[in-house]
Amino acid sequence: MPHGLRLGRNLRLLDAEKGQKIGHAARERVSFATAGRSTGFFPSPGSPTVPGAAPAGNSGKLQGQQSWPGHAPPGHEPQPDRAEDHDVHQQGAGDGQKEMPSRNPSPEIVGTCGARGAIFPVDAPRGLTYVFGRLPVHGAQELTLRGFPLRTKDIIVDQQLIIAAGREKSLFRRHPWIFSGAVASVKGRPKSGQTVDVLGQNGQWLARAAFSPKSQIQGRVWTFDADERVDVEFFLRRIGQSAARRRKLETESDALRLVQSESDGLPGLILDRYAGVLVFQLLTAGTEFWRAEIIAALRTLFPDDAILERSDVDVRAKEGLAERIEAVHGEIPELVEIRENGVRLLVDVKSGHKTGFYLDQRDSRLAVGSAAAGAEVLNCFSYTGGFGLAALRGGAKNVTQLDASAPALDLAVRNRDLNGFAPESMTTVCGDAFQILRAWRKEGRTFDLIVLDPPKFVDSKASLVRAARGYKDVNLCAFHLLRPGGRLFTFSCSGLMEDTLFQKIVADAALDAGRTGRIVRRLTQAPDHPVELAFPEGAYLKGLEIEVE
Ligand code: SAH
Repeated sequence: MPHGLRLGRNLRLLDAEKGQKIGHAARERVSFATAGRSTGFFPSPGSPTVPGAAPAGNSGKLQGQQSWPGHAPPGHEPQPDRAEDHDVHQQGAGDGQKEMPSRNPSPEIVGTCGARGAIFPVDAPRGLTYVFGRLPVHGAQELTLRGFPLRTKDIIVDQQLIIAAGREKSLFRRHPWIFSGAVASVKGRPKSGQTVDVLGQNGQWLARAAFSPKSQIQGRVWTFDADERVDVEFFLRRIGQSAARRRKLETESDALRLVQSESDGLPGLILDRYAGVLVFQLLTAGTEFWRAEIIAALRTLFPDDAILERSDVDVRAKEGLAERIEAVHGEIPELVEIRENGVRLLVDVKSGHKTGFYLDQRDSRLAVGSAAAGAEVLNCFSYTGGFGLAALRGGAKNVTQLDASAPALDLAVRNRDLNGFAPESMTTVCGDAFQILRAWRKEGRTFDLIVLDPPKFVDSKASLVRAARGYKDVNLCAFHLLRPGGRLFTFSCSGLMEDTLFQKIVADAALDAGRTGRIVRRLTQAPDHPVELAFPEGAYLKGLEIEVE
C-alpha cells in the first residue's frame, strides 16, 4: 500500500532528487517530459517490457533498463477515449465516491521508469485511461524512487472542476461558491454531489468542493486545505467544532443553531437543536451526497438526541433534489418546549416554518422585551408569537399578534398560556398584514411599539423592486399607526436587500407618513448564525430600532 496516497487528486510526477514537477497525469494519459519531450504510456497486461517495482532503497536513480526515453514502447501508444473507459470513469473510487468498481481492471503493480521517474499501471488493459492520486511531496518522491504495489482502488479517475482563466480570484479570497460561469471544464464525470478538486488553468490546486451540476453554483467548497479529505471524519470534525463554538456563546436558551451552512464551513447544512431534538436541513447536492455520513456524525456527537430531517425547502429544486421530511432517529415529539431568555415556547419541529422556529431573531426579541414596559404592542408577522411574548415578559400592557397563518397563531395562544400570561393580555389576528394595517389606519388605531418581521420578499435580484415596494408599504403603514414617541422594530431577512437600501426604504416610508425617526440601534441575526468573513452573503438579517417623534 503506497504511503500517503490520497484519493481524488491529480498525480504530480516529481523529480526524485529535486522534487520538482516534471510531468502530470491527465485523464487521457500519464505523461512526463524527458529532455523536453513528452511521452505517453499505456502498458498492456503482462507486457514483457513492463518493469516491476524497483527495489526499495534504490537511491535516487532508477534502473537503466526501466527507461524508455522519449517514446512509448511498442504497442503502448496512447489510445483515444473509448466507450468502455467511461465505465471506469463512472466507477472509479474517487474522493467521496462510495461504490467500488464492479469490473476489476487489475492494475496491480506500479512500475517506475525513466531516469527521472514516472508511474503507470503495469497490467492495465490497453487504452484504459487512468488517473492517479496526487501524492504529497514526500510520497511522490518515494514513489518515483522505488515504486510499490498499487491496488485497483488506489487508482482513481480524477474528478475536477477547472476554473476559467481569471475567475480564480474569489477562491483565493476563500469565497466558497463557484458559479457555473467560472467553470471552464468538468473532468472525470462527477455525479451530483460528489467531491471534486478545483484547479486553476495552470493546474494549481485551489480547493475541494461539492459538485452541483444542476445549480448555478456548480461548486461549493468543502476545504481550501489540500490535505483535508472529505469523509465521515470531516463531517464529524466540522460539526463537532461548529457545535463547540456555540458553547462559548452567552445565550440563555436551550434552542440554538449549531451549524450555519457556509459560515460554519459546511455549505448546505443547517442544524438546529431544540432542547434534545436535532433538526437538520440538507440544501445542496453536496450535503445530500453525504447524508448518511452527516447522520452518522450527528449520532456520534449527540447520542441522546432525537433527529429529524426537514429538507422540505424549495431551494433543493435548484439543486435537482426532491424535498424530504424524515424522522431519522428517536421519538420526535409533536411539540418541543424550549426556553429562550425566560420565555417558554412550543416549537412545531415537524411542520413549523424552517426547522420550526426563527432562532435568528433571539437577540432582537430580547431587545423588544427590554423596550416594551407598559406598551401596547403590535407584533406584525408574529408567527408563533415570539416577539409578542418577549414583550409581555418585558412588561408590555398588551400585545396584538398578527399573522396570516392560523396554526402559528394557535401556537401563540398555547405559548401565552404556557407562560401564564393573562388571556386579555394577548389578541391574535389572522389575515393579510397589508390589508389589516391599512384598515386600522383608517380606523385610527394606534400602538406604542410595533414589530415588523415580514417573510423574505426577495429571492432573486429580479424581485428586488417588487420587494422594495412591499417593505415600503408595510413600513409606511406602521409609521401611521405609531403614537408619538413610539418605537418601531423593523426587519428584513432578505440577503439580497442591502442594509443601506433597506434604511433608505424605511426612511422614505417615514417621509411619506410625515414622521421623523431616529435609529437607536441596529439589529442583526443572533450569534449562533455567524457570518464567515469571506462569505458576506451569510449576513442576511437586518433590523432597525427606530424611535419616532
Ligand atoms: N417574527 C417571527 C417570525 C416571522 S416569519 C418570530 O420571531 O418568530 C414571517 C411570518 O409572516 C410568518 O409567520 C408568515 O406566516 C407571516 N406572513 C407571511 N405573509 C404574510 C402576510 N401577507 N400577512 C401576515 N402575515 C404574513
